[in-house]
Amino acid sequence: MKIGFIGLGNMGAPMALNLLKAGHALNVFDLSVQAVRTLVDAGAQAARSPQAAASEVECVITMLPAAAHVRSVLVADDGVLAGIAPGVPIIDSSTIDPASVKAFAELAMAHGNSFVDAPVSGGTGGAAAGTLTFMVGGSVDAYEQVKPVLSAMGKNIVHCGGTGTGQVAKICNNLVLGISMAGVAEAMSLGEALGIDPKVLGSIINTSTGRCWSSDTYNPMPGVIETAPSSRGYTGGFGTDLMLKDLGLATDAARSVRQPVYLGALAQQLYQTMSTNGAGRLDFSAVIKLYRSRERGAGGEAGAQ
Ligand code: NAD
Repeated sequence: MKIGFIGLGNMGAPMALNLLKAGHALNVFDLSVQAVRTLVDAGAQAARSPQAAASEVECVITMLPAAAHVRSVLVADDGVLAGIAPGVPIIDSSTIDPASVKAFAELAMAHGNSFVDAPVSGGTGGAAAGTLTFMVGGSVDAYEQVKPVLSAMGKNIVHCGGTGTGQVAKICNNLVLGISMAGVAEAMSLGEALGIDPKVLGSIINTSTGRCWSSDTYNPMPGVIETAPSSRGYTGGFGTDLMLKDLGLATDAARSVRQPVYLGALAQQLYQTMSTNGAGRLDFSAVIKLYRSRERGAGGEAGAQ
């Protein structure tokens, strides 16, 4: 297939590379010249605008930071809807709010295009390995149409229900993740302060009832899991500001249905504190810096690097 791919960041770049590896032809666009160059070096064609990326393709994929970026990429004068042919599906894999998805789907439908929300879990490692989980919201027909393309980038392609339900699944998953990471950070730093070797504590938790992805794959204590961002200075993972965004989506969505999210709101404040202190670009597991006494330093500069 010929595919337009817009948004070549930490996630989008490796996803697009997997599409190339699977034999698809790509028209790529990103505001970052360097990001585009990496994909062109791998065989993609550079587009001058989202409109150009969406022209003469059989499918368009967007992987952007937030809903405002998706909106501008879709509706700008040189946006996707100005270039795309009727009938070509649009897949948005960004994590955004379900209400925006519904609005974008209506815009696309008025133009003769389907729009599915297909947010992902699996992180940058899953994106590189092609093992992402895609949570797809949209009609059964739209899901069947996009599934072969998504299969080149992920191993679980799940139809969650109608438009926006992919984002509901994603937001609820990341609500758990934001809370569980803070919980593991709290326990690991308490153990360290009380004198146990963090590797021993990590191995106990990982074979006990406290085990979770935040402990056994992405442990926030440096040195416990060698492949985790904590062991490389909290770089190259899932940014704190993106986690903060996702918890904001969860609390906003909860407000819309008058559902309390006690722990989610507290976790949101922890990541907000990190962001305020200058750690917004660090991996979100750096939340442990709020707890570790030797990281806190004078003046409460937790997380700043
Ligand atoms: P990122 O910030 O690394 O990449 C975003 C890319 O979009 C950048 O290259 C940026 O230049 C580009 N961009 C921004 N505005 C643009 C515009 N108007 N036109 C074209 N390009 C534009 O973000 P990421 O980590 O790749 O995440 C992308 C999305 O995936 C986010 O919604 C995030 O919440 C979600 N997500 C991220 C992860 C992760 O581990 N990083 C995991 C799951 C989901």
